Amino acid sequence: MNKVRTRFAPSPTGYLHIGGLRTALYGYLFAKKQGGDFVLRIEDTDTNRYVDGSVQIIYDTMRDSGIMYDEGPDVGGNYGPYIQSERKALYMEYAKKLIELGGAYYCFCSPERVASLKDEEGNVRYDKHCLNLSKEEIQAKLDAGEPFVIRQNVPLTGTGTYTDLVYGEIAVDYKDIEDGILIKSDGMPTYNFANVIDDHLMGITHVIRGIEYLSSTPKYNLMYDAFGWDRPTYIHLPPIMKDSQHKLSKRNGDASYEDFVKKGFVKESIVNYIALLGWNPKNNTEKMSLKELTDNFSLEGINKSPSIFDETKMKWLSGEYIKEMNFDSFKSLAMPFIKESKAFGKYDTDKLLNLVKNRVQIFSEIPSKIDFLEEFGEFDVNLFVNDKQKSSVELAKSVIPNIIDELSKINDWSNQNLFDSLVNLSAKLEIKKQALLWIARIAITAKEATAGGATEIAELIGKDETIKRLNFSLNLIK
Ligand code: GLU
Repeated sequence: MNKVRTRFAPSPTGYLHIGGLRTALYGYLFAKKQGGDFVLRIEDTDTNRYVDGSVQIIYDTMRDSGIMYDEGPDVGGNYGPYIQSERKALYMEYAKKLIELGGAYYCFCSPERVASLKDEEGNVRYDKHCLNLSKEEIQAKLDAGEPFVIRQNVPLTGTGTYTDLVYGEIAVDYKDIEDGILIKSDGMPTYNFANVIDDHLMGITHVIRGIEYLSSTPKYNLMYDAFGWDRPTYIHLPPIMKDSQHKLSKRNGDASYEDFVKKGFVKESIVNYIALLGWNPKNNTEKMSLKELTDNFSLEGINKSPSIFDETKMKWLSGEYIKEMNFDSFKSLAMPFIKESKAFGKYDTDKLLNLVKNRVQIFSEIPSKIDFLEEFGEFDVNLFVNDKQKSSVELAKSVIPNIIDELSKINDWSNQNLFDSLVNLSAKLEIKKQALLWIARIAITAKEATAGGATEIAELIGKDETIKRLNFSLNLIK
């Protein structure tokens, strides 16, 4: 069997959106699992949709996400060039061959004539007018330099069939396919032609792409057949939806890989999550590294039905990656985000990071988790009331002086020491330990909910500040 070769063929039209990256990922996983090659090809023949800088975004995103290609414009390979605009002459050469084979023909009709060919529904459909030109007429027009396009010659009858590995048997009647343009008047190929020529010349064995190409594939097959080339195996992927009604799309400004990285998602969690959008591993594991995804990947696991992009689930996965990260990795990734907090620079950075490490799912949540440290001030004393913990304003009033006494005696100001002494104090006062810890935490933070318990926070803000805050809070009750 031939070596498996897959490709990712994005058009450089802006950011690399989640759907595009999933197509790339599946192509990568499938090739790597089979020990094959994964190719990047830039499809830039539609100059109207070209966005400056987006080729670089594609290179950067793929490297950054780890979905790295073996061949491509910036890494080379034996099947280049890998940018379609650099292959222009090649397409013309093959288009002429296809004309000789009867699979295509020159069309000299003016855009006005083509536009006038409306059917009852107002759809324009070319009427094969130029198919009837004689060889001599065609040559005369070419010699006179008349502008032309090259169109595919689709049979009027019959049905094109093939087996898609996800969607099964596909059949499209040729009468429903128009003689589409293969080479435009500027000499550039359309996607409909270039994808066939390139997939063949680049030795692509498995074409993995979005479902939007499922029903145009029979017309590509006509060309493979006309040239006498083997058709590739097709794997079309289900759409990714924003909700049950709307597709996720970069045209709607839906988030790209880059946006999610900026939002503070762990990169591996983005790749991990998009792998699950349309594919389930047999063992139902959810958290998988790129290596594990590769080992588990199989075409049988690809679903036919659309999948809904669930940012909450991706956040959860990101949080799982953060929990498993060692402190140093966490620190280096979290630094740009923690700098946004009011508390940054006021307390020991490592301690701040420890406080939040297992309490955030994405890095951008860090500032809001620790800003409270800098927001201490007057508060509603009813915060001391907590029926579940058996705490009340009265109890706070009576025990805060004891807490102050107890903590004032402590020199080794560590979370563990502070915790032990408060637990001892609660036993001595014969009150619930939870009640005492609740009161202490409210008194030093003025917040109902905080990242970290009383003694963790006390350690962080230091002894003087802790005692100062306890006194302040006691005064509020008096
Ligand atoms: N350039 C096409 C796109 O971005 C690629 C489709 C394909 O993979 O064949 O949609």
